[in-house]
Amino acid sequence: MSFHVRRKEREITDQDEMRQVLKKTNYVTIALCMNNEPYLVALNHGYDQTKNCLYFHCAPEGKKLVYAQANPNVWGQAVLDFGVTDECDYAYTSVHFNGKLSLISDPAEKRHALEILVRQVALNPESKLAKIKPEKIEKTTMGRIDITYLSGKKHQASPKNQS
Ligand SMILES: Cc1cc2nc3c(=O)[nH]c(=O)nc-3n(C[C@H](O)[C@H](O)[C@H](O)COP(=O)(O)OP(=O)(O)OC[C@H]3O[C@@H](n4cnc5c(N)ncnc54)[C@H](O)[C@@H]3O)c2cc1C
Repeated sequence: MSFHVRRKEREITDQDEMRQVLKKTNYVTIALCMNNEPYLVALNHGYDQTKNCLYFHCAPEGKKLVYAQANPNVWGQAVLDFGVTDECDYAYTSVHFNGKLSLISDPAEKRHALEILVRQVALNPESKLAKIKPEKIEKTTMGRIDITYLSGKKHQASPKNQS
């Protein structure tokens, strides 16, 4: 079955506009599924526009990794939250994505992933990155979500009487 954003006037069709949401947000929420049991977690992320993937770091074990190893397909969301408008609507821009989650083993890609992540979410990223030693990167679990689908929706300063 194929779905699309029902409210056409709120649909974002420009891929760049959708990608900007992944670039401007600090975290995504991803849904996983194993043996018909759903699970979700929030993850700080860095978006690599060239590779169209999200990078994240996490503990080397835990429920999300057990789920992801059993089924690497994830559905996710990122939200720019603009709060309540003068018209008492709720304003947001959000994207949904489908992707495949994997862990990174190559040290050079781990370093790249960490740089993308820290530059997106941290204040003074360069000074923080300068302190990270290769041994620490080796011990850090880093993951990647390769994005295969994006949809976008925005509801900003919308006309009245629409929900
Ligand atoms: C804004 C935000 C950003 C985050 N960024 C990261 C990140 O970059 N990397 C990262 O690894 N984690 C991040 N977290 C925490 C993440 O959402 C998970 O809590 C964490 O990754 C542990 O997940 P797990 O599946 O390994 O849980 P486990 O430690 O294996 O625990 C599993 C059980 O604990 C409960 N549980 C787990 N997490 C939560 C939770 N957050 N709230 C309530 N119950 C919970 C669930 O019921 C689950 O069944 C972030 C959370 C938030 C809110």
